[in-house]
Parts: sequence; C-alpha cells; structure tokens
Amino acid sequence: MSVAETVPAPQSLDALVDLVADGDVLVLSGAGLSTDSGIPDYRGATGSLRRHTPMTYQTFTRDPRGRHRYWARSFVGWRQIAAARPNDGHRAVADLQRAGLLGGVITQNVDGLHQAAGARDVVELHGGLDRTVCLHCGDRASRAELDARLRAVNPTFGPHTEEVNPDGDVELSDDVLDGFVMVDCLACGRGPLKPDVVFFGETVPRDRVDSCFSLLEGAGALLVLGSSLTVMSGYRFVLRADKLGIPVGIVTLGPTRGDAKAGVRLDAPLGTVLPELARAVGAVASR
Ligand SMILES: [Zn+2]
Repeated sequence: MSVAETVPAPQSLDALVDLVADGDVLVLSGAGLSTDSGIPDYRGATGSLRRHTPMTYQTFTRDPRGRHRYWARSFVGWRQIAAARPNDGHRAVADLQRAGLLGGVITQNVDGLHQAAGARDVVELHGGLDRTVCLHCGDRASRAELDARLRAVNPTFGPHTEEVNPDGDVELSDDVLDGFVMVDCLACGRGPLKPDVVFFGETVPRDRVDSCFSLLEGAGALLVLGSSLTVMSGYRFVLRADKLGIPVGIVTLGPTRGDAKAGVRLDAPLGTVLPELARAVGAVASR
C-alpha cells in the first residue's frame, strides 16, 4: 500500500470545526504536538535522521550496560525535557477541555506538557518521564528527586549534546559513559530503576488500554493530533473507532497510517490549526 493511495484530499478547517463542535471528542495526541516545544519527533518526517534507535524494554531489562547507557544519556537529556514548556497546541487542547467539548485526552507523549498546559485527567498511554519505577520492588518515585541524587554523585558529568529524543535519550561516547554513576532505588536499596514509561518492545498495561477503550466507546469522535500512528498502541484506537462507527479526525503533518479511516484529515501545523479550532468553536479562555 503506497502512501499516495491513503492520503485523501486536503480539507478545510470547517470540517474539523464541525467534528469538534458536537462535543464528546476523545483526543489522542502524539509526538507531533510537542515538536513546537522543542521535543523532537523521532518517528515523524525527520525520524530517519535520528542517530541511534530508541531503547527497547528487552535491552533495558537484560543488559546492564545498555541500561547504564540509557541513564547516562537520560541524565543529560533530562535538562531539555524538564525545561520544555507547553505550546499553543497544548493550550488549545486544554481550552477545548475547559469548554466541555472533550470526552477525554489520551497522549502517547511522556513529556507531561498537556498537564502543564492545564489539561486534566490525561491518560498517559506510554507513561510519564516525571517519575521512575523500581523493577525490583515496584516503588514509584519522582524523577526530579532522582535527578537531584544523580547530580550529587555526578557533579562534573554533563557533556554537550545536540540531539535529544522524546524519551530523553541522547548520544554519548563510551568513554563518557564510563564516568557516569547510577544510583539505586531509595525504597528497597536495590533496583534497578526504570523511567515510568513504556519502552519499545514493552506492552501498555492492560487496565490502561481498557480505560482508553472505555473512553473511546463513550466518545462522539476521535481526534488524532500529531501522531503518525506508526505503533499499534495508538493505531488500535483508530481501528476500534472505525469498527464502532465513531468519526475520526486526524491533524498531523505528513502521512499517517490512519488516513484511509479518517473522515476529516488536515495536513497542517498543530500550533496554528488548534488555536484556530479553539477560537472557531468559542473555546478560547481569557488569559
Ligand atoms: Zn525498589
């Protein structure tokens, strides 16, 4: 199936306004929504330019060296993730929610920017980078707290980096990696610690998927924002919506896997389209 066959004709904002104005819209957002916040979309149009593949669950759990490499890179990348701020797209989603037009917000992003923009009850499909989980005792802890501990034992570690993946991963040479010191779980004294995110090769917890399907079943429409729907964890909601006869809208730059199933499809920048949408449906908050 070629990309050309799956891309429908461009549609105007009007079709999107019609879709959202009826309310009960379930938002499913992806990396494209956060690119304007400086978090690169490594699976989007420029994804092939990334310098290394994302960490997999198998490598993280079975390869201590790979895990060490992840945390060293992540220690550096965290600066950029923690400094990221929500953009106009995130704010428009929060506006739509405050206006009572949304039936839920599911995000594939792990950056917390929906919540930072004021959105509530956001379901983080792939978890969140703002916390860690201990693979030994299951304790969940604050990433900011871990960062403070890591800074204390790595006072001079902080090489320059030019590229950070959405999971906070960066490039580092082996020499540099050897100088990084990782810490253990504070609760059990063991570990290892893992960011509380779903890695490639890891399944999304079943109860989380089920609650997302419940949101979808009660929705009047599914609106995909900034996701190419490459991974099944997001695409399955489009498939389910299609099966249930729930209208699907997609606003994303570039082709997506769900285009053939989308009644409304805008290939346009989210930072422009979403504020226009929020204004058009009268959802813009005064600020
Ligand atoms: Zn523990």
